[in-house]
Amino acid sequence: MTAITIDGNAVAAKIRNECRERVKRLVARGATPPGLAVILVGSDPASEVYVRNKIRACNDVGIRSLELRFPPDVSQQVVVEKIEDLNQDPSIHGILVQLPLPPSFDIAKILHTISVEKDVDGFHLYNVGGLVAGGTVFPPCTPYGVVKLLEHERIPIEGKNVVVVGASNIVGKPMALMLMQHEATVSICHAKTRDLAQFTILADILIVAAGRPRLILPEMVRTGAVVIDVGINRLKDGTLVGDVDYAGVAAKASYITPVPGGVGPMTVSMLLYNTIGSCERWQQQVTIPIPTSGISSLVAAN
Ligand code: NAD
Repeated sequence: MTAITIDGNAVAAKIRNECRERVKRLVARGATPPGLAVILVGSDPASEVYVRNKIRACNDVGIRSLELRFPPDVSQQVVVEKIEDLNQDPSIHGILVQLPLPPSFDIAKILHTISVEKDVDGFHLYNVGGLVAGGTVFPPCTPYGVVKLLEHERIPIEGKNVVVVGASNIVGKPMALMLMQHEATVSICHAKTRDLAQFTILADILIVAAGRPRLILPEMVRTGAVVIDVGINRLKDGTLVGDVDYAGVAAKASYITPVPGGVGPMTVSMLLYNTIGSCERWQQQVTIPIPTSGISSLVAAN
């Protein structure tokens, strides 16, 4: 069997075209164009690249972007106050804080300062909780991109055995919860999982987000499985690879995503998608019934 390669660039471009049309429709109705604020603290080289790509993608579809840069020694309070200002700014519909933040920062405090209505990365407690209880306003971009890829390829999720390798708050856990919402049977593996292969071999759909090159070898994959590689690893020679032995696994799987050109481009497209959704909601004056006091006390307790 030779797997069909899922072309993430093509699917992401399709979503961007859709985004461009939605922005045109908003502006034609007299709305201000969607606005995304991107906050970058410090000068981590990878973060610089991600931010540049996000700003470029915004320009590409007509989203107004506002880039806010802070030196690595800025106080957390200054960033919190900036986010609070942006929460009140009617021209801004999405606020994104590029991670990682310097070690002195309390990431949870920063992320929970972002208003739920503008949390286009989907990392606020309300949005995370919504993945369990229903009612998420913004699904987190990378897992959302994976679901869109599966839907685009018409790969059924309901009732399938899905194994997610990686249990981080930004990829693995939300990914697993989103697939449970689609009524898959989901197993989550992580660095402490004993004998990873005994889980991965059972997967109809295997999603890998561990950040370990060649973690998944052909003998760990069921013939005909769908394999989605979220990992991005830079090897010493500069090559970019995922977590899956692509050539070996492609000979056994039914579908596979390449790295680069698989999940990566989808993440940015879903950020645009969420930001435009936020602007549309704002224009239609759809309010979100958010128990803000409850959330504040939860955050305070942490
Ligand atoms: P993370 O380091 O926060 O989490 C990694 C997870 O993988 C942890 O749960 C860890 O327990 C698990 N893990 C590590 N080694 C393992 C092993 N040997 N066996 C099983 N599980 C193992 O990373 P993250 O932020 O979730 O990102 C994961 C990967 O996805 C990275 O390569 C990252 O660059 C990539 N990523 C890609 C995109 C994209 O748009 N394509 C977006 C976010 C992250």
